[in-house]
Amino acid sequence: MSTRIGFIGLGIMGSPMAANLVEAGFEVAGYDLNAPNVAKLEAAGGTGAASIAEAIDGADVVITMLPAHPHVAAAVLGEGGVFESIKPGTLFIDFSTIRPETSVEVAKAGAARGVRVLDAPVSGGEKGAIDGVLSIMVGGEPEVFAAARPVFDAVGKVAALCGPAGSGQVVKAANQLVVGGTYALVAEAIVLMEAAGVDAAAGLDMLAGGLAGSRILELKRASMLARDFKPGFRIDLHHKDMGIALDAARQAEVALPMTSLVATLIQAARAQGLGDQDHSALLSVAENLSGSSGSSGTSGSSGSSGSSGTSGRSGRSARKAN
Ligand code: NAD
Repeated sequence: MSTRIGFIGLGIMGSPMAANLVEAGFEVAGYDLNAPNVAKLEAAGGTGAASIAEAIDGADVVITMLPAHPHVAAAVLGEGGVFESIKPGTLFIDFSTIRPETSVEVAKAGAARGVRVLDAPVSGGEKGAIDGVLSIMVGGEPEVFAAARPVFDAVGKVAALCGPAGSGQVVKAANQLVVGGTYALVAEAIVLMEAAGVDAAAGLDMLAGGLAGSRILELKRASMLARDFKPGFRIDLHHKDMGIALDAARQAEVALPMTSLVATLIQAARAQGLGDQDHSALLSVAENLSGSSGSSGTSGSSGSSGSSGTSGRSGRSARKAN
């Protein structure tokens, strides 16, 4: 008999992850507050459910992939939530990126019910989810990690046990501060090259091939140059993650000045109405700081500042002329 999975949260990440689990031979029943997301799972060969209880009925493994800690607390610990009807012995994997304290709370509540719990936030973005090559950072017990291996193999390329409950979330926070900082600096590199009148596309090709190279340059340089900020990973979610990173720093009593700066830039993006845009929209923030707005926006950039549509250099030359 094949392993049955109840999957809660079929958004940008959960939807392709659930589809990959179906593809790998698991029986997947899924639930999302948003009905079209449930229909997508059905189209991929899974079973749609009308509630959390229905999705996890008879499940050997329960998975959540939800936006933030309040959603996980409500969907797992709240009324009508996962832990109301989950069977003892079930493996529960939370792939969401949330604060470590909530993961610890969920692990304790699970242990009290005989449920085996892992926090397993991922990186790799929507493309990594679609391709089934996510990196999975796991907190929990070694034997539970071993039991989850077939699930991790179906959705990811690498998975590592990083320590006890909550540890996966701390590693994910570290991941997010590096990703945010990289976007902020790639954005500044684009602003500099365009303002100086050099060929930014050729310049980014050179950066991508040298020591400055990164997955972000590899995957996102073309869309950033085109000002295509369709998510992907929303600024609002990255704002949540920077909050987790700063809280973790406070708890660990360490000073992370770069992280604080990147968090402020992401906050600025939200204040400029970019919360629903991809985190590569940090480029708009960098442009606004220099009074320029680069190339006019293509799809997905409509939420950017009111100055969009003028060329980067026109803003600068106007200022120089005054
Ligand atoms: P999303 O907003 O696209 O998806 C979340 C889904 O959860 C939505 O479809 C929503 O309807 C559903 N939901 C919320 N509360 C629910 C409930 N009580 N019951 C059922 N469904 C519920 O978000 P996403 O981009 O898929 O991100 C999910 C998590 O993965 C977040 O923690 C995010 O930080 C993390 N993450 C995202 C990316 C990315 O590139 N998008 C990459 C790595 C990690």
